[in-house]
Amino acid sequence: MNAVPDVPMERLPALLAAMPKAELHIHIEGSLEPELIFALAQRNGVALPYTDVEELRRAYAFTNLQSFLDIYYAGASVLLQPQDFYDMAWAYLQRAAADHVVRAEIFFDPQTHTARGVAMETVIDGLSRACRDARQLGVDAELILCFLRHLSEEEAFATLEQALPFRDRFIGVGLDSSELGHPPEKFTRVFDACRRHGLHLVAHAGEEGPPAYVWSALDVLKVERIDHGVQSTKDPALMKRLAQDGIPLTVCPLSNLKLCVFPQLEQHNLRELLDAGLVATVNSDDPAYFGGYMNANFLQTFAATGLDAHHAYRLARNSFEGSFAEPAARRRYVERLDAAFAAA
Ligand SMILES: [Zn+2]
Repeated sequence: MNAVPDVPMERLPALLAAMPKAELHIHIEGSLEPELIFALAQRNGVALPYTDVEELRRAYAFTNLQSFLDIYYAGASVLLQPQDFYDMAWAYLQRAAADHVVRAEIFFDPQTHTARGVAMETVIDGLSRACRDARQLGVDAELILCFLRHLSEEEAFATLEQALPFRDRFIGVGLDSSELGHPPEKFTRVFDACRRHGLHLVAHAGEEGPPAYVWSALDVLKVERIDHGVQSTKDPALMKRLAQDGIPLTVCPLSNLKLCVFPQLEQHNLRELLDAGLVATVNSDDPAYFGGYMNANFLQTFAATGLDAHHAYRLARNSFEGSFAEPAARRRYVERLDAAFAAA
């Protein structure tokens, strides 16, 4: 499509909701809703430190990173059998399909589970079956294994070893959890090994951490995509590099708001990233905890910042071009996007 049609602002919300899009930054453990946590706790006989769904729902109104992590790990404790991982992923994939996500590249944190004595095979089996079945929903879903950066290089290597027998069921690796104090360099050798196995490489960088972490994710870890990256606007040379090399940024506006990266959504720098020619995308991060799935992120961010249909098209197109889908699939997604805008 050469020109994006002008869409009246009142028709923009419907277009944002209906346009096909890819989600490139979703932690599957962060999609666990309180109702499913209670259902799985009951199925598995796990005692929770919350009396009912309402009390757990109230705890989701956390006030800082630690109180978020407390609930996050309490929630993950109910995941024990392959079917539990399947049910968690399936619940997300149904929500993604309803938001017209046609491609999802889903992060999972195996160390959160293997540390509790759950086998790698249990985790990957349940998640990968859900991804395969997602075709029924019209979603192409793939998995990306994330290393927890607050743990050691040695533990990351052990995790990679455990996962390699299932190499055909995930397409890449990432780096997540607490950023500050855990620079990308800590995992140079792990990422070198992953590259040799032909895995795609991504890393969280520049969420709370400095632009220097984005530089080292690019130059030392040699990642293909930066997760978050919103701190990059503080470094003009970095902005130039990201634009020149077409490095996608997986931006998560509601997560940034909830974790106080920006005090208000109105102050989010998504427009600045797009105006600088960066391949920015919109994503939900940990949607059960951060206040919304894909369309909530689009609708609230556009309402707060006054972005228009041209930005919407660019963001959706970036999500496909920044994905790890095959070129033919990417072309098909863009054709569907063009059709949605032509009909708007
Ligand atoms: Zn994230």
